[in-house]
Amino acid sequence: MIEVLRRLGVGELRAIAAGAEWQAGGGASLAVRSPIDGAALGEFRAASAAQVEAVIWGAECAFPAWRDTPAPVRGELVRRIGNAFREHQADLAEVVTLEVGKIAAEARGEVQEVIDICDFAVGLSRQLYGKTIASERPAHRLAEYWHPLGPIGVITAFNFPVAVWAWNAMIGLVCGDPIVWKPSEKAPLCALACQALVQSVINEMPRTPAGISNLVIGRADVGQALAASPLVPLVSATGSVPMGRAVAQTVGGRLGRTLLELGGNNGMVVAPSADLELAVRSIVFAAAGTCGQRCTTLRRLIVHESIADELHNRIISVYGRLVIGDPRREGVLVGPLIDERAYNAMESALVAAREQGGSVHGGGRVTDGVPKGGYYVRPALVEISPEAPIIQQETFAPILYLMRYQELDDAVRIHNGVPQGLSSAILTRDVREAERFCSAAGSDCGIVNVNVGTSGAEIGGAFGGEKETGGGRESGSDSWKAYMRRVTSTVNYSDALPLAQGIKFDV
Ligand code: NAD
Repeated sequence: MIEVLRRLGVGELRAIAAGAEWQAGGGASLAVRSPIDGAALGEFRAASAAQVEAVIWGAECAFPAWRDTPAPVRGELVRRIGNAFREHQADLAEVVTLEVGKIAAEARGEVQEVIDICDFAVGLSRQLYGKTIASERPAHRLAEYWHPLGPIGVITAFNFPVAVWAWNAMIGLVCGDPIVWKPSEKAPLCALACQALVQSVINEMPRTPAGISNLVIGRADVGQALAASPLVPLVSATGSVPMGRAVAQTVGGRLGRTLLELGGNNGMVVAPSADLELAVRSIVFAAAGTCGQRCTTLRRLIVHESIADELHNRIISVYGRLVIGDPRREGVLVGPLIDERAYNAMESALVAAREQGGSVHGGGRVTDGVPKGGYYVRPALVEISPEAPIIQQETFAPILYLMRYQELDDAVRIHNGVPQGLSSAILTRDVREAERFCSAAGSDCGIVNVNVGTSGAEIGGAFGGEKETGGGRESGSDSWKAYMRRVTSTVNYSDALPLAQGIKFDV
């Protein structure tokens, strides 16, 4: 474990060692294995409940000083953090590959997202704009402005072990909030590496309060401890729908705020006029890339019946050529599933799909030419009825369900007929179809793309989804507002006291 992290080389080892010592507290034991070959990467002691409390208290103590630090100075810290990630992009990408099995290009891309969101947050640090509002009363100024919120709890999933933390943490930091991060128990090394990098930057920037960037490693119980703390006004949680429900109930029970980024079951409509070459490329990246382990992975393909056979055959043909294997190897496009549980979930979904009348191409474990101990699979394409119950669920693996449609209205109905609402796409050269899909009567998702697949969002746009996906928005646009509290302020600069709504109250 330390061997990989040692290469980061900016004195982080000290921080990592300190982190490891600290972790040696009372929590449960946590073994980390690489999905590439099942090799043990390290063993941690998860944070105990008392440790989580202590860390949250540290963040709470750091809050007043950080809140009072001018936002552009907070931005300067984030600018330096971005530079540290630039400098160590390759090393950190290696840790991402080792710990969650992403191919090199995607791992590097994930670290690039950290760098990009740092740049975005630096600009934002001078743009935390409020509004002035026309007052109905003479000589009154009515305005709203934004204040820091307090310590933010950030719970993240295994599949974006650094980017999702950065979306929350970098925006939260420029907004004046200390961060307490509970990473996935499947990716603590990435988290330790990020925390070490951030800490090294903090150490070098004078007057930065200690305790603005924190890590608590552990499983669901550690996430729950964070969710339960009244000192944490906002819990931003990314992961499965059941996790979101559990966190929302805990945080809701104390009337705190949540920002939820939960499971997707993303669909794409392919219309008769679609460019099929572009379609195949965008479908294969979105459905098989990251071994189907993105929240935005394409899971449902709704194809016009006139082109369904051709598209089906083309996808099968490209699937047959996909290089599956060790994600560190040049040319590999599909790495391993995260673990045996993910493999079993894929197998069960394929069994269910067959039972429900689906015709399955691909799927199954790959054992030749891949490292032993990893769960490598062939992506599956399943032609199935839109009525089949299996299409309602997100299976976090490369299974793509193909359904046929005749009229666009039916395609939209099929598309929207699932409980999740994260990402969606239409491939068409007909502007009327494209606009209909993007309109209020079209896709019901938070992300609606035209001639672009469902995955691979840019950081500049707000990211998130509707329905069971949780309704939260992270990353770009004005999602920063979730990390601050809004104040509406009326100032009377006259000698009179006119009341709103013309109310008379003469005493
Ligand atoms: P998961 O729900 O198993 O775990 C996510 C995080 O929540 C982990 O840190 C875990 O320890 C914690 N957790 C789990 N149960 C909890 C509980 N009851 N209380 C508090 N914390 C709890 O998800 P995963 O397997 O790591 O990731 C895959 C899932 O995440 C998929 O459903 C995927 O769609 C989703 N995801 C969504 C987005 C998004 O932005 N919408 C992004 C990435 C992943």
